[in-house]
Amino acid sequence: MARPVQHNTKVKMVEIPKGYSGEGFFATTFDKAIGAARKNSIWPLPFATSCCGIEFMATAASHYDLARFGAERMAFTPRQCDLLMVMGTIAKKMGPVLRQVYLQMAEPRWVIAVGACASSGGVFDTYSVLQGIDQVIPVDVYVPGCPPRPEAILDGFMRIQELVGQESLRRRHSERYKDLMNSYGIQ
Ligand code: SF4
Repeated sequence: MARPVQHNTKVKMVEIPKGYSGEGFFATTFDKAIGAARKNSIWPLPFATSCCGIEFMATAASHYDLARFGAERMAFTPRQCDLLMVMGTIAKKMGPVLRQVYLQMAEPRWVIAVGACASSGGVFDTYSVLQGIDQVIPVDVYVPGCPPRPEAILDGFMRIQELVGQESLRRRHSERYKDLMNSYGIQ
């Protein structure tokens, strides 16, 4: 006898992008289809140097479960990642290393500054600490807090997903984007 199919009502399906549907067809724009695919399959690179990294470990663990967002495939190889998550105090000596990691990531790439230290230097207003990673690389989302709780990191991640989902495929070739890169000395 065939076993009855169990439907798990807790499974949340990815929403389809807005489009036109009718009998037997669905049409949308290429941008929206690519955006939906990208935002639900982000590959993060955790650049964790101190305590905020521990919060991120909690974010990735089973209770908060970053994998729900399709982002459990973390890597420390910049060429395989599209989201740089900078978590922790970044010393000035570490600045060029962080920049090198960013440069090795292929476009399109996004950056989150997680926590007060990565965003602004935090409490470490000293000669040796970079007062915000946006002094060396462009940042898309800042997550406040010292430390930010996993909920705050997830909130920052979802904001990145919004950006990724809505980004035009032409943005990376626009004059505005080139100007942004040029302002960081990146060609
Ligand atoms: S923001 Fe606070 S918790 Fe995060 S790395 Fe800095 S000191 Fe640590």
